[in-house]
Amino acid sequence: MALLKLDKATIRFGGLVAVNGVNLEVEEGEILALIGPNGAGKSTIFNLITGIYAPTEGKISFKGTNISGRPPYVIAGSGIGRTFQNIRLFSQQTVLDNVLIGAHTRGNWNLSGALLKFLPAVRREEGRLLELAIHCLSKVDLAHRAFDLACNLSYGEQRRLEIARALAIEPALLLLDEPAAGMNPQEKQTLLTMVKNIREAGVTVFLVEHDMKFVMGLSDRIAVLDYGVKIADGRPEEVRSNPAVIEAYLGK
Ligand code: ADP
Ligand code: MG
Repeated sequence: MALLKLDKATIRFGGLVAVNGVNLEVEEGEILALIGPNGAGKSTIFNLITGIYAPTEGKISFKGTNISGRPPYVIAGSGIGRTFQNIRLFSQQTVLDNVLIGAHTRGNWNLSGALLKFLPAVRREEGRLLELAIHCLSKVDLAHRAFDLACNLSYGEQRRLEIARALAIEPALLLLDEPAAGMNPQEKQTLLTMVKNIREAGVTVFLVEHDMKFVMGLSDRIAVLDYGVKIADGRPEEVRSNPAVIEAYLGK
């Protein structure tokens, strides 16, 4: 059984069919890339998977359970972490706090819990979340920056911080929307190694990315989207030499 399955997933915005009958499976343990021209519907697919939008038609299943149209916090809690195409950090908060915000989605923590700090169980849970947050920061080599403000990180570090925050929900599936965008070649190389290590640690990765060198060096499989329709899906070498893909995307 696939970890994630899109079954004829479709969403319309007025007259526009942004995602059109997409069948796609993400297998446990793989790194799958989704490529395609701007406006093809890639981010919209992530928004469908994470519950920001409900599909107009079709179905999305995670670990065999239909998650279509469930609220984002439920889907995150079930084990799907994500980053966004544009950086979304609390820039005036510390690096650590930015990750703890992610961890609290997962932990048995709530606001009234903060008032019950004297309870040993609550303290234990907070200690566990702190440990988890530091662990996630170390995965992207930012543990030494834990007490810096997020705004004082370099651009590449901020993108990595977003990944740490997504990891803090202890996801089975990690969605990365253009993680290498705006990075210099050295930052991209560092990121590539980190994503490989995250997969080695047991997290399935599904990413959208434009940089073909990055995609080819990282992915086990590539799916191609054009005008909301999946036009190819296969091993990187197959996809790269597919005439329809060259016409729609690579040739440009
Ligand atoms: P990609 O990530 O592949 O560049 P998007 O998924 O962001 O593309 O967008 C796909 C298409 O859907 C675009 O034409 C975009 O304008 C449209 N779209 C995305 N979200 C909305 C929305 N909330 N309302 C209307 N149109 C949208
Ligand atoms: Mg996008």
